[in-house]
Amino acid sequence: MTRQFGAFTASELYCPKCKRAQAVREKLLLVLPSGELHEFLCAGCGSSLAKRTVSGPPVRAARAAAPGAPSGPRRLLR
Ligand SMILES: [Zn+2]
Repeated sequence: MTRQFGAFTASELYCPKCKRAQAVREKLLLVLPSGELHEFLCAGCGSSLAKRTVSGPPVRAARAAAPGAPSGPRRLLR
């Protein structure tokens, strides 16, 4: 029986440090506007073996569109 979750989900990956396939622990590395970056760490030595991006629903698209700068140039005049 094979379970699939749509995106690739690894339970074991080859670890060059351990020189064998190791169980991996998935760790949330970074939250991006477009999704979440997950990292797969070797359960044996903790090496980073793989990364994957999980695209989630757009949380706030308006935030990315905002330039973040105040409207018009500002000068410090006295
Ligand atoms: Zn390892």
